[in-house]
Amino acid sequence: METRTFYPDLGTDLVRRMTEGKGEKYFVLTLGCQQNEADSERIRGMAEAMGYSAAKEPEEASLIVVNTCAIRRHAELKALSIVGRFKAIKTARPETVIGICGCMAAEPHMVEHIKKNFHFVTFTLEPNRLFRLPELVAAALLESRRSFVLGEDDGRIAEGLPICRTSDHRAYVSIMYGCNNFCSYCIVPYVRGRERSRESAAVIEECRALIASGVKEITLLGQNVNSYRADMSFASLISRIAELEGDFLIRFMTSHPKDVSDELIEAMKKYKGKIAPSFHLPLQAGSDRILKNMNRTYTTAHYLSIVEKLRAAVPDIVLTTDIIVAFPGETEEDFLGTIKIIEKVEYDMIFSFIFSPREGTKAAKMENTITDEEKSDRMARLLAMQKEIALKKNLPYVDRVERVLVDDEAREGAGNFIGRTAGGKLVRFTDKKRRIGEFIYVKITKATPFDLFGEALNGNSNETIKNETRI
Ligand code: SF4
Repeated sequence: METRTFYPDLGTDLVRRMTEGKGEKYFVLTLGCQQNEADSERIRGMAEAMGYSAAKEPEEASLIVVNTCAIRRHAELKALSIVGRFKAIKTARPETVIGICGCMAAEPHMVEHIKKNFHFVTFTLEPNRLFRLPELVAAALLESRRSFVLGEDDGRIAEGLPICRTSDHRAYVSIMYGCNNFCSYCIVPYVRGRERSRESAAVIEECRALIASGVKEITLLGQNVNSYRADMSFASLISRIAELEGDFLIRFMTSHPKDVSDELIEAMKKYKGKIAPSFHLPLQAGSDRILKNMNRTYTTAHYLSIVEKLRAAVPDIVLTTDIIVAFPGETEEDFLGTIKIIEKVEYDMIFSFIFSPREGTKAAKMENTITDEEKSDRMARLLAMQKEIALKKNLPYVDRVERVLVDDEAREGAGNFIGRTAGGKLVRFTDKKRRIGEFIYVKITKATPFDLFGEALNGNSNETIKNETRI
């Protein structure tokens, strides 16, 4: 796929001339998934290139951007309610530029709604045209123009946008955008367009530079990373990144079961220590009939065969999944099929949602006769079962020593920290030193279904481990 460098552009210089010396600030609010978080880092990068600096509160900002999510109706309502609160800021300071980006800004009916009913919103900008942000800000400042950028996606990728990252030790690297799968419930192919992959050289160079700058964990992002297609496969790409010099961990998400290759599983085995022993493998439903109606194009048997291969290659792998409860037509028997797979696989964590129809998708037109009581009951049963399984999976960690990347201080205050194991489990622990962004060793002392608790071991991690039992 051809890529094109769109940046720097005219808008940036124009805006910078207007913001110079004025102490203008920006505020970016991110809703939704990691892809949005990665996009927000670019929005912040472009805002800083335009001369804005970060505001702590939206009230201080003269550029406010809400990066929205459209995955469920609830997410859209939440975004609209948040945007609504910014009306008071615009009334008090009419020169404030308020923009909406993200998946909601790619839905024609939503853009129309915002245009008509949210007069204080300056622009909407579909995610695939993010590079046009400076131009829209310039149009607003110079001509008081409202802009609505929709339906312009030409399938190309804008390389080289400035990035203002939120963490010094963890980084997202987008490797592909869009999705070709058209699962019947999903809005993504409509709002993020068809699949397109970044060139491998650009991805590898970005990872190399991040590692050189001290980043310890890189998450490769894509709607379906396993269908990465550039001059190499995803398995080859992740292997090349794993071969880079340095002490770092690679994660990736999300994967479609139909595209998980043996080559990738082999790479996870070969580069264990560099590629995190974790896999998010969305099941969505444990009934072949429902999977067919979802257009997921795999069967439960195929799904289970991948789990088997993953466990054989990486025995301590942490497995997580997504489940949609009460998809149209889901019978009690279908639901029990889902429960059966959950029991069999024993996921470390499940992200479960009650089906939410998305306008424009096939599933939104399917008849759904499941009552609200049935939906809630199924969800409650699933959560109760998963809570038991998650505790069962976490208890064996007690008394182990785990290598943990320290993420941040915990809310509990001095001496309390949070971090993640290589498998991605959240660990809350105490430490005498503040070692944010370092790999350290933590002795696990307690486990609950959702978290591990422990105490940091002192001293250099490699020396410490010689005296401890590492599992
Ligand atoms: S694979 Fe399916 S669920 Fe995932 S983004 Fe693509 S269409 Fe949506």
